[in-house]
Amino acid sequence: MSPTYDVIVIGLGGMGGAAAHHLSARGARVLGLEKFGPVHRRGSSHGGSRITRQSYFEDPAYVPLLLRSYELYDRLEQDTGREIATLCGGVMLGRPESRPVSGSLLSAERWGLPHELLDAKEIRRRFPTLAPHDDDVGLYEARAGLVRPENTVAAHLQLATRHGADLHFDEPMTRWEPYRDGVRVHTAEDVYTAGQLVLCPGAWAPELLTDLGVPFTIERQVMYWFQPTGGVRPFLPENHPIYIWEDTDGVQVYGFPSIDGPDLGAKVAFFRKGTPCTPETIERTVHDHEVAAMADQVGRLLPSLPGRFLKAATCMYSNTPDEHFVVARHPAHPGSVTVAAGFSGHGFKFVPVVGEIVADLALDGATGHPIELFDPARLAAAPA
Ligand SMILES: Cc1cc2nc3c(=O)[nH]c(=O)nc-3n(C[C@H](O)[C@H](O)[C@H](O)COP(=O)(O)OP(=O)(O)OC[C@H]3O[C@@H](n4cnc5c(N)ncnc54)[C@H](O)[C@@H]3O)c2cc1C
Repeated sequence: MSPTYDVIVIGLGGMGGAAAHHLSARGARVLGLEKFGPVHRRGSSHGGSRITRQSYFEDPAYVPLLLRSYELYDRLEQDTGREIATLCGGVMLGRPESRPVSGSLLSAERWGLPHELLDAKEIRRRFPTLAPHDDDVGLYEARAGLVRPENTVAAHLQLATRHGADLHFDEPMTRWEPYRDGVRVHTAEDVYTAGQLVLCPGAWAPELLTDLGVPFTIERQVMYWFQPTGGVRPFLPENHPIYIWEDTDGVQVYGFPSIDGPDLGAKVAFFRKGTPCTPETIERTVHDHEVAAMADQVGRLLPSLPGRFLKAATCMYSNTPDEHFVVARHPAHPGSVTVAAGFSGHGFKFVPVVGEIVADLALDGATGHPIELFDPARLAAAPA
């Protein structure tokens, strides 16, 4: 018979990897099951870079979690020696009333976070790669920057293994059921039992969390790499910040400094302009008309882009209707199941703190972190 575990974690991507680490570091006997190999590209945690920032325009309630996430990212770097975070600074750009600007300002003021408000002229002077409209402004935050998704996932898996977790790759869970005081999990290879189940399914949330009643929608997103005219030097992290820019038509684009050498140029993407998909049906080919639309949009903000198109890659967002996360005990199985899903395209910067919260919920039944915003009850379909 298979050994029994304290906790089984399903999905070893961003969130599940962090959960496996935090759970095993606290002494729990952990089994992690992952559908694909370690650090793969078929979910949501690949593509070389993710924005991180503290003056959070989505809601000030995220700020304490971000402060903790920054501490845990530092520790992850120290504990593994991997390059994880680059705090090159970041500007949230647009009209003063745009969400990136007004929402970031709200969070910065509410939490006393260091920031500067810059007008368009000052932005162009300090960051010559950016040429916003004359009536755009920017909230600059020195503590913003980027984190490396693949290195983060690899670091968490490495630490989880060091703490004794059993991590099984290419072994998807096929189903689970309540069993005695805990759960029983089936795969094609075996059946495992545990006191606690943690579900971190990413874009597979619609199939793994049907009984949650949350209408998750999965979206195909594209990341683009362009070679700037004049080379990457002005785009190195010491010269070029991360940015999110809302244009006058409400379209948001964001981008990164050049961090992977001259051959990979600089990465840019649309924020929230995806198309519905499923992990099985997602179109992985990026078409010329998509590249042309991106090239046109970035050219409006960055005079030395698009330059030359280098490559593109697809990824998935798992959206909730209000774009806030779902992190909670499962309402139908509150004694034995924890869920972390619906990260709605902005979850990566929270990966370490979500790992910590999930470990609190699974091992203690509660967390001291403020997660009221992530309660699935707010989204559950009203009974007919
Ligand atoms: C293009 C793009 C840009 C983004 N930019 C940012 C950004 O700048 N800043 C930011 O903070 N966030 C960003 N995000 C969001 C962030 O990357 C995600 O919120 C985060 O990666 C989600 O992690 P996850 O663990 O939920 O999903 P994943 O990392 O995909 O992990 C889910 C895992 O579950 C596994 N799985 C599924 N079903 C099973 C099963 N039955 N059995 C076993 N395993 C299973 C999958 O194989 C997968 O490995 C971006 C996302 C994308 C796609």
